Amino acid sequence: MRPKIIKDVLISERAIQKKTQELGRKISKDYRGKELVIVAIMRGAMLFLADLVRHISVPAAIDFMFVTSYKKASKSSGAIRIIKDLKEDIEDKYVLIVEDIVDTGLTFSYLKKYLKAHNPKGIKICTLLDKPSRRLVRVKPNYVGFTIPDEFVVGYGLDYLELYRNLPYIATLTDKAKGRLKGNF
Ligand code: 5GP
Repeated sequence: MRPKIIKDVLISERAIQKKTQELGRKISKDYRGKELVIVAIMRGAMLFLADLVRHISVPAAIDFMFVTSYKKASKSSGAIRIIKDLKEDIEDKYVLIVEDIVDTGLTFSYLKKYLKAHNPKGIKICTLLDKPSRRLVRVKPNYVGFTIPDEFVVGYGLDYLELYRNLPYIATLTDKAKGRLKGNF
């Protein structure tokens, strides 16, 4: 049974599985012969990462970063804070950032600058979802699962007030549930 906060399933479990396979195959082709470090941005990317890497056939180190943004306090300031940093050395390696969603683009743009300072050979981003209509900075993800409209979504790693990350699909919220988000997003 679907939780009460859900309005519609926007992207089904099946569609996500098909897409992760497609993306994994493409990434495997593009990174053949390159030293790859996958950097997953937590907590949102956890389910996507786990499914995606199963379809990546080239050797890859997997690392995690935990970040938070202060979007709530001030929409445009976009201050990002690193809670947990990289463990792997990325110098002279190819970094692929794995994100749940690129929304304003502030997180991606911050991370790109931050990781660049560690002198990798290249930095690209693979995001499950892209919400280009909400950009505050000009960034373009290299691999995109699904482009979605300006709508708050939950499930498959994305939370609603820290809950529902475990839903196997991506869904939209009822108006009532959206109302409870005000001031939190
Ligand atoms: P950005 O810095 O690109 O604005 O935002 C990135 C982060 O904001 C994402 O990693 C995600 O945690 C959060 N976010 C953006 N849009 C949504 C959404 O529709 N639903 C949820 N649950 N989180 C979102």
